[in-house]
Amino acid sequence: MLPWTTYEAMTAAALTQPETFWLEAAQRITWKQPPATACRVRKDGWYDWFTGATLNTCHNALDRHVENGRADQTALVWHSCATKEQQSITYEALQGRVAGFAGGLRALGVGKGDRVLISMPTMIETAIAMLACARLGAVHVVVFAGYAGPELAARIDDVAPKVIITASCSFQGRTAISSTPALQEALARATHTAQACIIVQRAACPTRLMAGRDYDFHTLELAAPVPPVPVMAEDPLYILHTSGTTGKAKGIVRDNGGHAVALALSMELVYGCQPGDTFFTTSDLGWVVGHSYGVYAPLISGCTSVIVEGSASASTIRTLCAEHAVTCLFTTPTQMRLIRQESRHICPPAPPTLARIFVAGEYADPTLLDWARSYFQRPVVNHWWQTETGWSITAHFFGLHEPEPTNLANEIGRPAPGFRPVIAPALPGEPCGEIMLALPLPPGCLAGVWREHSIHAPDLYLDDTGQYYRSFDEGMIDTDHAVRMLGRSDDVIKVSGRRISGIQIEKIIAIHPAVHSCAVVAVADTLRGQRPVAYVVIDTGADTPPTADDLITEVNKTLGRWTGLRDIHFVEALPTTKSGKITRKALATAQSL
Ligand code: AMP
Repeated sequence: MLPWTTYEAMTAAALTQPETFWLEAAQRITWKQPPATACRVRKDGWYDWFTGATLNTCHNALDRHVENGRADQTALVWHSCATKEQQSITYEALQGRVAGFAGGLRALGVGKGDRVLISMPTMIETAIAMLACARLGAVHVVVFAGYAGPELAARIDDVAPKVIITASCSFQGRTAISSTPALQEALARATHTAQACIIVQRAACPTRLMAGRDYDFHTLELAAPVPPVPVMAEDPLYILHTSGTTGKAKGIVRDNGGHAVALALSMELVYGCQPGDTFFTTSDLGWVVGHSYGVYAPLISGCTSVIVEGSASASTIRTLCAEHAVTCLFTTPTQMRLIRQESRHICPPAPPTLARIFVAGEYADPTLLDWARSYFQRPVVNHWWQTETGWSITAHFFGLHEPEPTNLANEIGRPAPGFRPVIAPALPGEPCGEIMLALPLPPGCLAGVWREHSIHAPDLYLDDTGQYYRSFDEGMIDTDHAVRMLGRSDDVIKVSGRRISGIQIEKIIAIHPAVHSCAVVAVADTLRGQRPVAYVVIDTGADTPPTADDLITEVNKTLGRWTGLRDIHFVEALPTTKSGKITRKALATAQSL
């Protein structure tokens, strides 16, 4: 039960008595040594949470639920959109497999603090590998399975793993792609040599194991089970590299204690979930949402988690929701647009247990959110996240008793407890600018950046005063605390000295019913300095696609002609990162060549 019923009471408690607030929140976790303090400044100037306390994250995710009556509850449901396989595993069975695999890792010499690189698609085995590392106090580094050899090699050299775990293949659509060439290339390129490779053999594309180097995943699981190893709250649980949307990939370090507390609180507060509920995230486990809400948060909270390999269609999502009594669905705007494209003219009844839907990861235009509400006949909200923060910076709070203000429905919400955003305007007096977060950040956020084989204070994220974390996102904050997102700082367009975010224009273009997605970027203009250019994807099967003039007229009507929008390019698709986010920078670069 949450101790506050209103947003005002909750934020006041977090602001005025942060130690009490977070020590109370910490009671959601089972500790070996419970914390006596919440936040402490570290020697390097960054912050540690719950110093002096000890726990094991895997114990919190599995063992304690098995001991407390959830042994037979389904812990994970996995569906492969590529092979159509489906597996469910109970808490007790998952605990047994994780403990056995941890024993296999230990037999290969993996112990506390050692890094284990996991380059796998979303599978039950990926979650087993992550949880087995957590059980041993080892640090997992999950790498998106679609990376080519050089990208994999860079991550191997960055974290120097003792062991590498991979699946024999991953899938692009329904086509199996052998992992062997990328792995061989990465091992040859990397200067670091891992002691062993562990392979999950997949029926679609088994590989030959190299004697002395490779071990079979499922054979290792048969090792004698090991109990959870207590670790310090501030010890690292994992390293996750940023997707590269925000420049060169950085290894974000997450601790054990703060992470477990923040995720447990968020399940109740943000998502309104109770133990026994089912949470479904469509994110790949290689990204932060997959880590947080595919594996750790639902399991720490005694929920069932549904995970999928590949991109789930609208009908697959609906079927999984209905079959597994899903309460919360967490997806991306890109996935939601695909659902819309598939379901424009079909509106079957909503899965009965589904209570609410969340999107995050990139801008979601109001037209899309409104469509999703009418399709699912449920609340659909957008919230703001970064790999660095590990949970939502701003959100809508379904665990509070008061309803969310309706005027915020299409915004990214209000700050989660402990996040204190301020705006740093580019020009004095402007209401919008970069969103900065006052330090310390709440628990669950980055414990540092992994560099030269150790954890460093994340100096590259600090402003000149050293008091604020730079989000590199632009926005504004209203008097009701609502944060309005305007996009990445470097996506802001300056037209004759006036600043406009591309998404302000995208929002207008997206209203046209035939528009599937769009991106607006800046190009150099001799007269104005910069002007916007729009790239528009039309929905397949759209009856009446707009002309460029139709869209320009709409933008001019709403914003005025000053924006100087005159070029609309109709394209088949927009460039995206591996995590599916539109890369506006790539479009801007292409335009300026
Ligand atoms: P990543 O760390 O790769 O997940 O990217 C984080 C970035 O995604 C943020 O800094 C934002 O630019 C963007 N982002 C995340 N959530 C949202 C959202 N709800 N609305 C708009 N942009 C978002």
